[in-house]
Amino acid sequence: MIVDRGQVAAALPGYLIGAKLGAGAGGLVLTGRHRRLKRPVAIKILPGGSEYAPGSFETEARLLAGMDHPHIVRVFDYVEADDLLLIVMELLDGGTLTRRRATLDPQGACAVGLAVAAGLSHAHIRGVLHLDIKPGNLLFDAAGTLKVADFGIAKMFEGTAVTATAVAGTPSYMAPEQITGGRLSPATDLYALGVVIYQLLTGALPFDPTLPVRALFQQHLTAAPPPLTGVPAPIAQVVLRALAKDPTDRQPTAQAFALDLARAATAIHGAGWTSRVWLPLHLDDLVSNAADQPPEPASLPPPPPLATQPSAPGASTPRPDAPSSRNPDPGGRTNPRSRRRRITIALAVALAVAIPTVLVVLLNRPDPAPESVRPTLVAILPEPAATPRAESFSADGHTLVVTTDSTVRMWNITDPANASFLGGFRDFAKSVGRVSILSPDGRILAHSGVTTDGQRAIFLWDVTRPGSPVSIQTDTFTGESGGDNGKFVRGMAFSPDGLRLVAVGGNEIMSWDLAHPTYSPSDATISTGAAAANLHESIAVGLSADGRNAATADLDNQATVRIWDTQHMEHLVNTVTFPTRGGKARSVLFLDTDTVVVTDDVGTVTLWDTADRANPATIAFPDGGTGPVDEVLLSFDRHTLVTFAWGRGEIQRWDVSDRLHPHRTATLRSDIGAVSPKTMAISTDGRLFSAVDPGKDAVNLWTPG
Ligand code: ADP
Ligand code: MG
Repeated sequence: MIVDRGQVAAALPGYLIGAKLGAGAGGLVLTGRHRRLKRPVAIKILPGGSEYAPGSFETEARLLAGMDHPHIVRVFDYVEADDLLLIVMELLDGGTLTRRRATLDPQGACAVGLAVAAGLSHAHIRGVLHLDIKPGNLLFDAAGTLKVADFGIAKMFEGTAVTATAVAGTPSYMAPEQITGGRLSPATDLYALGVVIYQLLTGALPFDPTLPVRALFQQHLTAAPPPLTGVPAPIAQVVLRALAKDPTDRQPTAQAFALDLARAATAIHGAGWTSRVWLPLHLDDLVSNAADQPPEPASLPPPPPLATQPSAPGASTPRPDAPSSRNPDPGGRTNPRSRRRRITIALAVALAVAIPTVLVVLLNRPDPAPESVRPTLVAILPEPAATPRAESFSADGHTLVVTTDSTVRMWNITDPANASFLGGFRDFAKSVGRVSILSPDGRILAHSGVTTDGQRAIFLWDVTRPGSPVSIQTDTFTGESGGDNGKFVRGMAFSPDGLRLVAVGGNEIMSWDLAHPTYSPSDATISTGAAAANLHESIAVGLSADGRNAATADLDNQATVRIWDTQHMEHLVNTVTFPTRGGKARSVLFLDTDTVVVTDDVGTVTLWDTADRANPATIAFPDGGTGPVDEVLLSFDRHTLVTFAWGRGEIQRWDVSDRLHPHRTATLRSDIGAVSPKTMAISTDGRLFSAVDPGKDAVNLWTPG
């Protein structure tokens, strides 16, 4: 569609018109900003004389204007000018659900179900049917809240029997009655939502989307959806009910669907599961209670018929009364024992303000004797022809990236003893640097290096197909201070959802928003570049679990750690000088949204609670040994921390599931000798490490014990 930007600007004089956000059947969508209010907006545009169902654009604007719900896109204005129709709405710049689908875990999928059902419930109560629920029409705002958008084919249904006049919708998500021109109802939207959740939980659509449309429709009308392999029965049952052919067999309302789903998810994931997903939810009280409170045994709903069947492979045992042990409440808020300990710690911290050494003594409970293990060599990857400089694992532990001075090579190490070469690339840069990192899903590789024309830079690649990587972008990194060494990239970190990347070195910090809304070059934006005044030879960076804050460690005289707002890098949230035993900081990471771990060069590993950004409080001070602790890494499940003492060739493994009492579970002293911390990595399960054998130019894969 060709739209004259001048015409748009003339139609909306109050707005600055920005870049293209997307386009669909209905029109083109641009960004904009209200000149006075400075409010960022999205502008959906349709040429007046277009073929797009006449009147429907105005309908979309009118229907949206009547709604006010945190899970529905907000509309600010509707303008008809010359040959254009324009809807001005809330900017949802967190990308579509299509884009984030791959990064959602089962709890995230259930949370999406609750969010969309809440939005739909609000629309349905106002007599509006959406009729085009699908991942491409579900958008995230910058804070990660999911919103129902694109009411382009929505209809009013209240009072009158609405039937589908023309076949409209998206074939993979269309309910039988939408295909046959039957009577439409809220259950029609629930069918589409059922397809979305089915897809999120199983990774595939219930019916083959590559079928010709007629055949696909036939499946919707007659074929039973294949069982949801690997999905716990109670949850699968809720989804399958929404996919019933006869609308009266589905949940009668969006709220009923949400209640069913909330109860099933609570039975599987434990009470309070919604607070463990990175998806803000605005639920009504009934649904929110169903998700947050363990069902009383007496008031448990009758056992679902499927529960008597053997559960699907991979299904976990329902634990209605306890959060899953893999997801303990990090703050210990629901556990009286932890609460007591928290009070003790608070006392200890209060005391320690006056006498720092007391803190160390009080909090350093003796560890249960840690295992002392010698790592076992499980594989030697074929000689990479040059000394490896950096290694990193994907968070799922399946992919290993090894960089040398001039090459990037990737391995599938699912079975380390039979590692297979996935592909590699070379000669795209003057040299490849010492910092490389894979996104948690293993699809994006970021590394430092020097471009062919001699610029220090960060390279971003889409390595979905490792043999033929696609360059996303290359950004110059200048560093500035700290002599030559300080100018190099020293640390990089991805947020757990893979949507944000930060890099530091010298006095520069850079942040990329990769969710905006695809991994394409124009969409990965640098929020802010140098923040020169505030950084001094920054050597490490960590990102909070929600990606909102970065913590940087400086190589200055004390263990100075700064906390940043990643969306506004110019805004330094706080600078904290961590009272270590007098050492300089070596590495830093976030265990969750608030707990920061700092290691230093005199053997201290410190856990800090930074929830109150202005007054961070020490949580624990475990003893990391003597001498520098150079690197700290966290397993994907966030329960295992691994610290490296490079000079000693020593690796320590810590259980940090109880933030208040991290304890060492193993010390690995190996024949590996002194190794570079950048060439060691931790896998999902916190067990597999790799190391470059310093004597040979080969990559050895080790497992502890
Ligand atoms: P269509 O009817 O053409 O499918 P949509 O309303 O779904 O129109 O918009 C098309 C695309 O434009 C969306 O998939 C999304 O990428 C982008 N988009 C739409 N609305 C917004 C918004 N409010 N904020 C950001 N992007 C949007
Ligand atoms: Mg759309």
